Parts: sequence; C-alpha cells; structure tokens
Amino acid sequence: MSIEYNPKYMKHFYDPVWENFEDGFWQGIKQRKLKFQKCSGCGTFSHPPRVRCPKCKGEGWEWVESSGKGRIYSWTVARQEVHPAFRVPFEIVLVEMENEPGVRLISNMVDCTPEEISFDMPVEVCFREVTKEWALPMFKKVGG
Ligand SMILES: [Zn+2]
Repeated sequence: MSIEYNPKYMKHFYDPVWENFEDGFWQGIKQRKLKFQKCSGCGTFSHPPRVRCPKCKGEGWEWVESSGKGRIYSWTVARQEVHPAFRVPFEIVLVEMENEPGVRLISNMVDCTPEEISFDMPVEVCFREVTKEWALPMFKKVGG
C-alpha cells in the first residue's frame, strides 16, 4: 500500500507557497533533493525551516543535502477519508533523519503495508509525483 492521490483534485490542492527562509527546502524538492537547514554558527540542523537558529539565535544558514536515510520514529494509518484527494488507507510516518541530528520529517510511505511498519525501521527517501510539476519526498523500506 502506498498513498494514492486522486489526480482530479491535486491540480488545485497542491501548489506550495513558501516564505524566503524556506526557499532552500523547496528549491531542493524541485530538484528531487532533500535539503535541510544547518546553522552556519553552531552546526545545528533544523526542520521545518526557520529564520533563527533555535540554539544560538543566529540567522546564517546553509542548505545541506540529506542522504535521505532515516528511521521510523512514529506512524499512524489513516483509514477514514478526510478529503477525496487522498484515498484511504494510507500511512503517515514521522521519520528521524540519520545524518541530521534532531530532524524529523512527516511524510508518507511508498510500497509498504501498514503491517510492515515498525518502530526504528530503516527507511530512505524517494520522490513521488503528485502533479506534473511537483514530486514530494516520501519514504520506502531500505532495500525495498
Ligand atoms: Zn546555531
């Protein structure tokens, strides 16, 4: 099972708008790369993107490409339809990134059943087309 989108709704549903300080993340997504903010002052990783570092309050950031590897920190399965754009059931996962301490990303699983997901399961990012212009970072089992 993977999340499936009803394309009828996605044209109007998914057109991200972002602030300047988030630009590195979305420019990365356009290039099918997962990038996170890393503080130029103290090296702290941060996600979602923000203006100031939560640790040193600095405003200097660099955008670092992630290996895309992580582990399942938590998950849930949506079985009740909340919008016709999303066919149920689908998995919503919170992935703790392997090389970016403290960074967790909410996303969906690809090619995986709810029963296959377990705590601390290794996963890796993959990009799934949701519209003609956009693909989103999702996760699959390592080696899956
Ligand atoms: Zn900092």
